[in-house]
Amino acid sequence: MTDRKYLNQLRTPTKDNPLRILMSACLSGITCGYDSTANGEYPTALKILQYDTAKVVKFCPEEFSYGTPREMSDIHGGTGFDVLEGKAKVLSESGKDWTEGIIKASEKMLEIAKKENIEIAVLMDISAACGSQVIYDGNRFSENKVYQIGAGVAAAQLIRNGFKVISQRDYASLEILYSKLNPTHLIDKTKIDHHEIAWYKEYFNMD
Ligand code: SF4
Repeated sequence: MTDRKYLNQLRTPTKDNPLRILMSACLSGITCGYDSTANGEYPTALKILQYDTAKVVKFCPEEFSYGTPREMSDIHGGTGFDVLEGKAKVLSESGKDWTEGIIKASEKMLEIAKKENIEIAVLMDISAACGSQVIYDGNRFSENKVYQIGAGVAAAQLIRNGFKVISQRDYASLEILYSKLNPTHLIDKTKIDHHEIAWYKEYFNMD
């Protein structure tokens, strides 16, 4: 769940002192996805790149450790937090144990976040590295693919070190972010975050 109170309290940046944002590289259009694509096009994230009041730092944790293209990977036995605590594993789709490499990549992402003094991270949801709201529970290519609420390993690493993370599907939170980047932006109050959509509520029995 996103921290809208934190977002509301973000400072108003300027061109000379832009808001420091860490973004999943693929969300910025870089073709670092497992299949050398950008995992689709997400206008909500691309919009952030257009503001001269934003300094966007881009990083792909999976590419850092395994290059591009590479196998798809998922978390088995828990969430990204569990991986960091040694209670769950990251396996590639062919079953290779990528736990160590993804943890190293998460540490690199944290190092960048600290060095750049990041104020907010906008990361690709669903990814075993960058997911922040929903991730797969086990192999997404299995017959009965299952989702779980939780963060991927890199997002979990950032969160447990005090950084705030939103995803490209947290539309209400993004509206607040746009209004910080440009105070003339009128917040669209009809927008909702990923954990508020009908699919999420139904799938995770939230009603
Ligand atoms: S690891 Fe993150 S940045 Fe890299 S392709 Fe996957 S979602 Fe995008």
